[in-house]
Amino acid sequence: MSSPQKGKGPRIWVVLTFGTKTDYGTEYADKTRESYDYDSNIPNYTLVHPGDVMIVCDKQDVIGAARIDRIDPRPGSKQFRRCPHCNTTAITQRTRKAPQYRCKKCKREFEVPDLNWAACTLFTAYFGQSFVECKSHPPRSLLRPGCPKYNDRHAMRSFDLPSVADSLAGQATDLYDVLRRLLKCDETLSPRK
Ligand SMILES: [Zn+2]
Repeated sequence: MSSPQKGKGPRIWVVLTFGTKTDYGTEYADKTRESYDYDSNIPNYTLVHPGDVMIVCDKQDVIGAARIDRIDPRPGSKQFRRCPHCNTTAITQRTRKAPQYRCKKCKREFEVPDLNWAACTLFTAYFGQSFVECKSHPPRSLLRPGCPKYNDRHAMRSFDLPSVADSLAGQATDLYDVLRRLLKCDETLSPRK
């Protein structure tokens, strides 16, 4: 009856890892199976708690899922790259075109972005031994209908499993089973009867 996403139950987060080719700098060099790093610039960072589940994805696919064992905060800073014309951080780096950067907001192009550092809190969510790889590596796009406020720039999004349980059970059975195990759900999560 009660959904694991409602009330005080554990939440599910879809998180992105970028390895070393990140847009965000080397602090995101994640040890995928052990932990996930995020910071206080991420929307909803205050809502993440031990016991929550993270679905870990790379840019294309789901890598696996894990339950958060503990979260360690520490003071730190983060580098931002900004458009030199309008100051937004919504800029894209292009590999094949010159100039190298294009601003999504004012649409101007430039070779060198403005750089600045801002203080923030860095968090590491440790998975303990709970990480389970999804051998089928389902495409990340499969999760998108379960992310209510989808924004491709956000590295962490809340995920509503019951709303996509049917498609997940059908198209990514191993991920579905892993999530149910991590959430310690005995009942089916699907809204279907
Ligand atoms: Zn701009």
